[in-house]
Amino acid sequence: MHISELFQKKSPVLSFEIFPPKKESPVETIYQTLDELQDLTPDFISVTYSAGGTGGNHATCDIASAIKNKYGILPIAHLTCVSSNQAEINAQLDELEKNGVYNILALRGDINPNVPPKHDFAHASDLTAFIKARGGFSVSGACYPEGHCESENLIEDILHLKRKVDAGAEHLISQLFFDNAMFYSFLERARIAGITVPIEAGIMPVVNKKQIERMVSLCGASLPQKFVKMINRYEHNPEALRDAGIAYAVDQIVDLIANGVDGIHLYTMNNPYIARRICENIGALRQTNE
Ligand code: FAD
Repeated sequence: MHISELFQKKSPVLSFEIFPPKKESPVETIYQTLDELQDLTPDFISVTYSAGGTGGNHATCDIASAIKNKYGILPIAHLTCVSSNQAEINAQLDELEKNGVYNILALRGDINPNVPPKHDFAHASDLTAFIKARGGFSVSGACYPEGHCESENLIEDILHLKRKVDAGAEHLISQLFFDNAMFYSFLERARIAGITVPIEAGIMPVVNKKQIERMVSLCGASLPQKFVKMINRYEHNPEALRDAGIAYAVDQIVDLIANGVDGIHLYTMNNPYIARRICENIGALRQTNE
């Protein structure tokens, strides 16, 4: 199934993101994770892509293929373009096609100062247009409720996002955020700009202080008072922080669903326990339009 069809059938969609295991971990660890995530019946699972990084180039395709062929769940393979030329992207697309993976999250990728960018694709919209011109794939894109860190301002960021959608992105997944008000004003800007595709809200349950510091330095998400108080209060009590982090994420999700969000994309951090706890809390909220 192509991703755009899914959103016609389901509301809200619930999806998970996983990443390939680090090079030093056995690849089987991801299959133990998937064994557990499968029981939670996500509508799709996306697999991150690391161009020359932790997981290696083939890991994403292999795992996405297993999600489809072994677990019977719709996969989305992430694909970055900033360090690739057209031939390399075509080789990745060939491999995905061979494995029956037809949904791609087309990304530019972060610019790594140690890896000189190649020049075939400057932006995710270039990759999106390239994949759509080749045909056979459904393409999704990333979006940033608080603006991408390189953007001059929120208006410019939305205009670039509109280009990505005009290039063929059929669905968007948001960067994580902890303040739903940020997401709602982003949605309003996006809809005013004429972006009508389904937009999933990216939710990352916080389970330890280090994780949150790392994420915030990477993506610059703003932290509401309520959230900061929670972290400060429980930072030295891992179990309490984990439970509070799960409750916070559930609270965000309930509010988003009540406000008619198209979908929730859970950044699982390959942690099925946390995903399970969240799913247990929102079971009856996952109604279908079918
Ligand atoms: P783009 O859409 O190209 O945007 C990048 C910047 O360029 C933005 O500031 C945008 O406003 C600007 N821009 C866009 N188009 C134009 C234009 N035409 N002219 C001028 N400026 C323009 N990274 C990975 O390495 N692997 C992953 O698997 C991965 N998965 C992700 C999943 C999600 C849901 C999200 C939100 C991010 C993910 N990332 C991943 C991180 C992502 O690669 C970085 O945020 C990267 O810096 C931007 O990628 P993009 O696809 O959003 O880029």
